Amino acid sequence: MPAPEPAQRPKTKDTAVAIDIRKLSLTYQTADAPVIALSDIDLKIRTGEFVSFIGPSGCGKTTLMRVIANLVDPTDGIITVNGMSPEQARLQRAYGYVFQAPALYPWRTVRRNLTLPLEIMGMSRSEQAARVEKYLALVGLKGFEGKFPWQLSGGMQQRVSIARALGFEPALLLMDEPFGALDEITRDHLNEHLLRLWERTQVTVIFVTHSIPEAVFLSNRIVVMSPRPGRIVEVIDSDLPPDRTLDVRETPAFLEIAHRVRVALRAGHSYDD
Ligand code: ADP
Ligand code: MG
Repeated sequence: MPAPEPAQRPKTKDTAVAIDIRKLSLTYQTADAPVIALSDIDLKIRTGEFVSFIGPSGCGKTTLMRVIANLVDPTDGIITVNGMSPEQARLQRAYGYVFQAPALYPWRTVRRNLTLPLEIMGMSRSEQAARVEKYLALVGLKGFEGKFPWQLSGGMQQRVSIARALGFEPALLLMDEPFGALDEITRDHLNEHLLRLWERTQVTVIFVTHSIPEAVFLSNRIVVMSPRPGRIVEVIDSDLPPDRTLDVRETPAFLEIAHRVRVALRAGHSYDD
């Protein structure tokens, strides 16, 4: 008789590996001393997972994202992205990348910011229009197609960036401190938005943050990193209910996971400086 499916984590039932990192290291050569940005990283991320990376500035979070996105090559080790090399994955547009600052073109309307990557892909105009409508609705910005970025708040601009990254329907979303510059109320709101969006789209999300509550609220797993050299201290599972709202942050289960993250950060001497 076949073994019953584990029921507790429906999002990760599909065990296909989205990212496979083995013994990965990266040293930047600089004018004075070499900088070891990543040292001996081993990690598998399954398709459909939401994984957060947390750690102090300089522990290599952005570098790791850049390796996944094929913007920089590792010095050592192996990485595959959806079973391909990072270069193949980039050429196949396997991922969307959301940066800390929205990075929208000020002279283009919201609609035309969203269609830019779709135009480059050679998508038909009708399909472009359908995607714009679908993904603006998904981030709660239906009706804002004709606005320019400077007519929107910071939080709305960031949602446009997310819609743009989702618009070409990547299997993987890389988000590097996307809400870091926002006020707490806006951040809370976008956290809930992002969670609902992830539940609906089943996209694999790799999310960098400085915020313990944000990491715990959003993730299936939290990867705690420490600096000099950048390495993984601990990987912490989170099994909060999938339909959670921000209220979950008051629960003992949430506080317990947040505590474990804090202890791991401390163990990595992340608070030294
Ligand atoms: P994080 O995103 O966690 O703050 P980064 O990945 O940006 O960390 O940086 C990790 C380390 O690598 C830091 O010490 C940083 O100064 C260094 N670093 C990052 N990018 C470069 C680069 N292009 N050249 C040299 N050193 C770099
Ligand atoms: Mg960074």
